[in-house]
Amino acid sequence: MAIITDRHVSIYQTTISAVRDALGRNATIYLAPTQVECVYCILDPVRNVSSGITASGYDWTTHDDYVSPYNDKVCPECQGIGYTETANTVTVQGTSKNLDYNDTDDKNIGVFKPGDIRFSCDLADALVDSSDVNGETYFDRARSVTFDGVNYKVVNTSKSGLRDLYTLRVIMERTNK
Ligand SMILES: [Zn+2]
Repeated sequence: MAIITDRHVSIYQTTISAVRDALGRNATIYLAPTQVECVYCILDPVRNVSSGITASGYDWTTHDDYVSPYNDKVCPECQGIGYTETANTVTVQGTSKNLDYNDTDDKNIGVFKPGDIRFSCDLADALVDSSDVNGETYFDRARSVTFDGVNYKVVNTSKSGLRDLYTLRVIMERTNK
């Protein structure tokens, strides 16, 4: 019977990390954008949209998107929505494998579509709360992921490791060709 010692675990972890550092590439994870109240206009608290009134201290006519006279009533910053959005992204380095429907290993982990990839990274890099290995990862929250110039959606995430959880595997499906 083979016995896995702490030393083996340590060697394995170090090797995996070294491979990821050498071959890993960045995956960009797109999370829900952060919404903030527009500073250019006053929010209508009843309808929860822009009131169309300029906030004091801002001059719409100097805004790049200002078009007179139409924009005299529409805030050029938020287009009347009352809120502006800031993109929220996280980058995680990892390696990928193209999944093949005919690959037995891939079948065993539930992959059925050719063209999908399995992205692997250090779990610690992807945890929303780095102190909770059982917690949610950024991939669980992802709206989309870009890797090697291709857009994906996350199909499934799984954590694994010897004894301790330290690897995250993410099955992703292409959303563009
Ligand atoms: Zn506005």
